[in-house]
Amino acid sequence: MSLIVTHCRQSVRATCAPMNRTEIKKMKSNKQRRQEIKAQRLRRVVKKTRAVNSRPVDRPVGTVEVTPIRLRATTSYGIPDFVRRGYYQDQPFRCKDCGVEEVWTAAQQRWWYEVAQGDVWTMAVRCRACRRQERARKAEARRIHLEGLAIKRAQSLPGSGISA
Ligand SMILES: [Zn+2]
Repeated sequence: MSLIVTHCRQSVRATCAPMNRTEIKKMKSNKQRRQEIKAQRLRRVVKKTRAVNSRPVDRPVGTVEVTPIRLRATTSYGIPDFVRRGYYQDQPFRCKDCGVEEVWTAAQQRWWYEVAQGDVWTMAVRCRACRRQERARKAEARRIHLEGLAIKRAQSLPGSGISA
């Protein structure tokens, strides 16, 4: 097209048939074409983003849906924030033992409340390392306690050979 135009302008303008309106309309500059391609690309991206974000519960990316029926029953009249909200979201917290900053992820929360049946009013308070330590400490305390009980029981049994 541009070749014809140049040709017309230069020499044989008179012999060249003038273009009608629709023909002129069809002609687009490179700039126009680039803009159109850009706009089309943008429309495509927006459409794709919408598709990704369309979820049954209107919740932000990276969050996990709450299934209230799976939660442990509570006698409280209140409703925890995450239940009201409808989804779990990553939650930063400071370990109560060592003070380190850690994130309680949405997936971990779902597991705690819906799989492990943790109380809906409890939250993560210890970092991973301190949690493991605390678990070991509790297990050890329980073991010592049970051992003590067993010894006492054996001592109180008549004819056990051990006299108090
Ligand atoms: Zn810690």
